[in-house]
Amino acid sequence: MYYPEPIAKLIDAFSRLPGIGEKTAARLAFHTLRMKEEDVIDFAKALVNVKRHLHYCTHCFHITDVDPCNICQDKSRDVTTICVVQDPKDLIAMERTREYEGLYHVLHGAISPMEGIGPEELRIKELLQRINNDKVQELILATNPNIEGEATAMYLSKLMKPFEIKVTRIAHGLPVGGDLEYADEVTLSKAMEGRRELL
Ligand SMILES: [Zn+2]
Repeated sequence: MYYPEPIAKLIDAFSRLPGIGEKTAARLAFHTLRMKEEDVIDFAKALVNVKRHLHYCTHCFHITDVDPCNICQDKSRDVTTICVVQDPKDLIAMERTREYEGLYHVLHGAISPMEGIGPEELRIKELLQRINNDKVQELILATNPNIEGEATAMYLSKLMKPFEIKVTRIAHGLPVGGDLEYADEVTLSKAMEGRRELL
């Protein structure tokens, strides 16, 4: 071991984060060492708080500190439309367009036989419950425009057949193989506008 244990531990912790290799982890750890103590404490508190105070909304499964989340509680939103996304980050990307006024449902992933992710691993059962209980008239499938996202959209549209609701898929102004969260607001708004009917 070249590093004193506390710094070795911090390097190890940073290197577990996505996209951070050992060199970057070491740089971050040494940067932490040079930070003011109060800033380090604020940083540590932010890390702990995100775990302690955030959970999933019991309706839409977005991350939230209140339940139902602010979007589900918002009386001005259109409860007849649910936009289905893979990830909370996709929901946030969609909100940034400021054009969508309906509700959401976050699946927390997409069907991927390669990674062993089947429908039962996703929040699909809960989506069906919402469609059964609530006044949903349109389901917008806004999963990512890649193989997994398309497979998930196909699966969901088949599943919705017995329900008398409109099922739409967002248009492909989006880069194919891409990720919704990285699309700019204009592209995303256009994709929503150009959604086509599946059912
Ligand atoms: Zn919610």
